[in-house]
Amino acid sequence: MLSEELRNKYQLVIGLEVHAQLLTESKMYSSDSNEYGKLPNTLISAITLGHPGTLPKVNKKAVEFAVRMGLACNCEITRWNIFSRKNYFYPDLPKGYQITQDKGPICVGGFVPIELADGSQKSVKLNRIHMEEDAGKSIHLAGETDTLVDFNRAGTPLIEIVTEPDLRTPEEAYAFLAEIKKLVKYLDVCDGNMEEGSLRCDANVSVMLKGASEYGKKVEVKNMNSFRNVARAIEHEHERIIHLLEAGEEVISETRTFDAATGTTASMRTKEDLNDYRYFPEPDLSPIVISEEWLNSIKVSMPALPRQLYDKFVEQYGLPAYDANFLSESKDVALWFDRLCTQTSNYKAASNWMMGPVKSYLNETGKEVAEFPITAETLASLIALVESEKVSFSAASQTIFSELLQSQKESPLEIAHRLNLIQESDESSLKPVIEAVLAENKTKVAEYKSGKKGLLGMFMGQVMKKSNGKADPKVATKLLTELLEN
Ligand code: ADP
Ligand code: MG
Repeated sequence: MLSEELRNKYQLVIGLEVHAQLLTESKMYSSDSNEYGKLPNTLISAITLGHPGTLPKVNKKAVEFAVRMGLACNCEITRWNIFSRKNYFYPDLPKGYQITQDKGPICVGGFVPIELADGSQKSVKLNRIHMEEDAGKSIHLAGETDTLVDFNRAGTPLIEIVTEPDLRTPEEAYAFLAEIKKLVKYLDVCDGNMEEGSLRCDANVSVMLKGASEYGKKVEVKNMNSFRNVARAIEHEHERIIHLLEAGEEVISETRTFDAATGTTASMRTKEDLNDYRYFPEPDLSPIVISEEWLNSIKVSMPALPRQLYDKFVEQYGLPAYDANFLSESKDVALWFDRLCTQTSNYKAASNWMMGPVKSYLNETGKEVAEFPITAETLASLIALVESEKVSFSAASQTIFSELLQSQKESPLEIAHRLNLIQESDESSLKPVIEAVLAENKTKVAEYKSGKKGLLGMFMGQVMKKSNGKADPKVATKLLTELLEN
């Protein structure tokens, strides 16, 4: 653990490189299927394998996805895109090179606003987003000396999102990744699944003396398979580098690997023995030109972004920030809620239903909102039923809601009638019930009249019991107080 003193002496600096696998049907430079989980080495044509004489072709959809992400991240879009070969040898790289964007990434600059747990906001500057392709996968089975290679992943379209060294705490890195995941999912460009490797992150970490004008030497950490592990790896490097510096040692520019079991990192390779990638322009691909017309058509087809829905929920529906945050966290939930709001104008009640009973149901069953059995129309009529005070919220959320989850043959009102849940809000039918309660509790009534006002709750309990829970609490309280005061 770092002492508070050392923590205050140095400034942590973090830059992230995030790879996102694109959800296209085919690969980046060939028509091979881009499916996950297929039998190894079944999605590989001569193009994916880079056989001599084969020619790559750029996947148009992948370019559109990269532009979508760039627009969502406020980047400038490069119109004239060239590709480069990055040469290196690795068993899972069948071509012996990767086709990537070296100079002139498709998206330049940009920023991503993030929100931290304490509610503060920060805008994280991006350096670029570029297009490239994934390599295959080496598989090392326990106890085996041979390495297996699956080339199915080779050629999977990727975008790499590179931040400026703009992040300052592990928490900020975590929030940034969460925001990126939210964005790619909203945009339908990547499933955002870090455990399965569709979203991967390398963290660059350095420290400098507080107030210094130059960044310190950085290390790059790889192989974290969750946001939490990215934050753990950064904190580990934070402490390790400060201890190095305090011991008068030098930080080596190197790539390190994270071990989730121990929460520590180990050196993989230093930048000295780094490959010379011998980048050169890919001779088999002509430049991809993004015309004004194409760019505009992508702009027009952009789906709503989390921020826009958040703003709509706050400004148009008048919801608190907390509700809007919850509701815009996932696109499916946000759009479902938005549809619900076309059926009711009681937005706050609608939000409460989403954050309460609906969320509990989804959590308990592990279902997505798309699988939620009650339609927005039906839920809206249940909300209206509560609003009209025909049924209490507890009867609606406990009894009618669970009936609806089973079947929607009956409307909420029909269920309320069948189960005898319609509230007694009619004073003339409530009055005899209350009078009976008072007649049965003459001594308590006297105590109340002599000042023990706290007995009101007891009387209310009796009234609810006598009415089988159907007394409208507001009307009953009013009537009860009137009768007691007389
Ligand atoms: P490299 O040439 O080593 O790949 P780049 O300049 O391309 O380095 O930056 C790669 C990533 O490292 C970027 O995300 C960038 O923000 C981050 N980075 C650069 N310098 C630092 C630093 N001193 N501390 C932390 N991160 C850094
Ligand atoms: Mg790099």
